[in-house]
Amino acid sequence: ANRPFIVGNWKMHGTRAMLSEARAIDRAAQRLMQVEIALAPPFTLIHPVRREAEQIGVGAQDCHPADGGAHTGDISAAMVADAGAGFVILGHSERRDGHGEKDKLVAEKAQAAFDAGLKVILCCGEPMAKREAGKAVEHVLRQIKASLPTEIEEPGERLTIAYEPIWAIGSGAAAGVEDISEMHSAIREYLVKTFGEEAGTAIRIIYGGSVNADNAAEIIAADEVDGALVGGASLSAESFMNIVLAAQ
Ligand code: 13P
Repeated sequence: ANRPFIVGNWKMHGTRAMLSEARAIDRAAQRLMQVEIALAPPFTLIHPVRREAEQIGVGAQDCHPADGGAHTGDISAAMVADAGAGFVILGHSERRDGHGEKDKLVAEKAQAAFDAGLKVILCCGEPMAKREAGKAVEHVLRQIKASLPTEIEEPGERLTIAYEPIWAIGSGAAAGVEDISEMHSAIREYLVKTFGEEAGTAIRIIYGGSVNADNAAEIIAADEVDGALVGGASLSAESFMNIVLAAQ
């Protein structure tokens, strides 16, 4: 199994008052080296969180596909890298649904991120209707294929897949462990087929959707689960670190 990777996605939460949580997470992380820990705060906090962070990774929640130009309100991959981000979350369902992002755009963003030297956490996940129709795996594999650039250098190092069933996000009801393992195994098979045995096995596949301190141990111990992408429960150092403790 890969070293567990626990990422906090702060979404649109956090002002400088939250820096104390980031600091507490970083301090606690220094005693938990078996787990790789990262935070993705809003753009405005990337640099301040980076300054607090000695142990944890810091990333962004999105970037624009272009290097720069007349794109009012947008942030390029090079800009987030310059602010101190080492990775970017792309294709989150809240961007796909809230901003109409299609797979092709996500793939362009991923290319821009890799070109800027960033790692990528690519999100995928099915709506409830697809699961009920028995088409969840097919939907997710198609999404992953279409949301990645055709050529990726060192994918084992630089790519993480986050499986986040849309119906489990923020609902308080995480997916069942068997369903998670079934999906992650299908994703693993696809990654090995696409990137070869070594890289395909090294790419981490993490789960997101209502992960909390109570369900984290069971989810993270499940087959082919390499960690978690945590929303709500990452907003306090205490609840986030309880998830990290469950992962080690
Ligand atoms: P919650 O942990 O709040 O369900 O959010 C999951 C998520 O979307 C992380 O990216």
